[in-house]
Amino acid sequence: MPDTPKKLRVGWFSFTCCEDSTIIFTELLNDYFFRWKNLLDIRYAKALRTKNILDQLDVAFVEGAISSQNQAEKLKKIRGLSTKLVAIGSCAVSGFPSAQRNLFDQATLSEIKPILERFSYTPKVLKVDEVVKVDVYVAGCPMDEKKFLEVLDTLLVEFNVIVG
Ligand code: SF4
Repeated sequence: MPDTPKKLRVGWFSFTCCEDSTIIFTELLNDYFFRWKNLLDIRYAKALRTKNILDQLDVAFVEGAISSQNQAEKLKKIRGLSTKLVAIGSCAVSGFPSAQRNLFDQATLSEIKPILERFSYTPKVLKVDEVVKVDVYVAGCPMDEKKFLEVLDTLLVEFNVIVG
């Protein structure tokens, strides 16, 4: 029986954000679906799959900033299951623009306090590397598509899915 070709086990995760990098990723499938079908084992991507599995990953792509303790705990779990973690888009890389409330004055913070309490948000919105170690950064709002494709190809070589 022939060996099953190795695929890169990946997950795509969105936290506090507008999910535009998810849309970019989905749009890229118009051009790359047939290539990635043979190279990627997409274990978790809520925009693409109805059944998602959170298990051992080669690479976790993480979009969005972290604005609650629940999100921080989920991110730590993802980090624990992933060999590499890639921060996707400005909100994940720098916190902004999702972290705008970190810059609010006291009066505005008082106004939004009931909302923070109601949804159990943390006082400060965090960028991803304030919670877990990040291996690779893909900046941009939304993410820089060219950089994402470069990073993905580098990871495919690094994990011996394709030859560099
Ligand atoms: S970086 Fe920009 S596009 Fe991406 S989630 Fe944040 S606001 Fe949206």
